[in-house]
Amino acid sequence: MNFVIVGATLPDGKSADLFVTDGVFATEAARGATTIDAAGLTALPGLVDLHTHLREPGYEQSETILTGSRAAAAGGFTAVHAMANTSPVADTAGVVEQVYSLGAQHGYVTVRPIGAVTMGLAGERLSEIGAMAGSRARVTVFSDDGKCVSDALLMRRALEYVKTFGGVIAQHAQEPRLTEGAQMNEGALSGELGLAGWPAVAEESIIARDVLLAQQVGARLHICHVSTAGSVDVVRWAKARGIDVTAEVTPHHLLLTEELARSYDSRFKVNPPLRREEDVHALRGALADGTIDIVATDHAPHPLESKECAWDEASFGMVGLESALSVVQLAMVDAGLIDWADVARVFSSKPAEIGGLAGYDHAFVPGGTANLTLYDAAHQRVFGLGDLRGKGLNTPYLGRELPGRVVATIHNGYPTVLDGELVDAATVAADAVNYTSRNPSA
Ligand SMILES: [Zn+2]
Repeated sequence: MNFVIVGATLPDGKSADLFVTDGVFATEAARGATTIDAAGLTALPGLVDLHTHLREPGYEQSETILTGSRAAAAGGFTAVHAMANTSPVADTAGVVEQVYSLGAQHGYVTVRPIGAVTMGLAGERLSEIGAMAGSRARVTVFSDDGKCVSDALLMRRALEYVKTFGGVIAQHAQEPRLTEGAQMNEGALSGELGLAGWPAVAEESIIARDVLLAQQVGARLHICHVSTAGSVDVVRWAKARGIDVTAEVTPHHLLLTEELARSYDSRFKVNPPLRREEDVHALRGALADGTIDIVATDHAPHPLESKECAWDEASFGMVGLESALSVVQLAMVDAGLIDWADVARVFSSKPAEIGGLAGYDHAFVPGGTANLTLYDAAHQRVFGLGDLRGKGLNTPYLGRELPGRVVATIHNGYPTVLDGELVDAATVAADAVNYTSRNPSA
């Protein structure tokens, strides 16, 4: 399927027509190409999420690779990195190849499995890192996310191992002893609400330790979901010393604060917890000045019963794929802190670079694989259940006014979203087979 996309606004603000022919960007329209009127729409390179929980295998009641892929496409994503905390855990070549294959079959997005750092996420011995890297899934990112690699010796060995092939360890920074039973950010409010506190230092101390380990080993380190002003200071310090560290922030940590816990509504219970206003302020500044490299969703779907219960008993996590771009527009673009070229960087080229995903650094260049999103930034909507496309309904934005709407998503040259609606699964799967047969090495 070929496209002429007329009058799109590129991230740099210039208007252009884009041509998609046989899966790649072209310099002119193919005969019989389908026209998409993109007047008033911003064309972004396909969004890349470095931190998605797809839940399959093992927790298919929460999400599947298919439903999570559909949520991602609806949110403007063309690639997601699937976290390893499935059942079985993605700690062997067999599991990551299964996740990779299912993603490729469904075809809504490119699914790149993340491998566990330790067997069973148990934090005792390293997983089959080399076998996963050498598998068909070509894993380059390793994380025990959900859990912290808290053993310093294991962390050091993991960094040494991935250094041999240019991989990266993505750390969920949560000192376990300091956060036993923790329910929300530690401070005056946690005392007032009677909920066990989660101190900022539990995150900051692990980041400080790990940037020093990364420096000593000379390996790449990535910090998941940075949530405190102190963490920003540590990352800024490490970067100034030339340490090879990158960091992500979630959309919810850019917008929401711990005050929402007053409702005892567990939709606002998340790991790491929502923090103070001054943390949100520091995170926004750090994303704007490049101290924080990327936005990642930490999309964490849960079945209703594990959220519709007392705060103490509820699971941690929020869904985020469908709302991510809107929330970043609201918190960052509309606030005048970053522009759309920055959005393209923090949501596409930079996460692709960290994840080792080719082709996202020169978006829209003729000959390059056509991954793009057409976004209507002028649209306003009250975010509702109808905006969710995955299985998880645990969004913190229900009933909240959010800007923007994804009008079209094109993955590997074929549409996954058109006119704001998901293309049906059979059509997308067939287009994916076509793409794979033309690009056997992809
Ligand atoms: Zn995490």
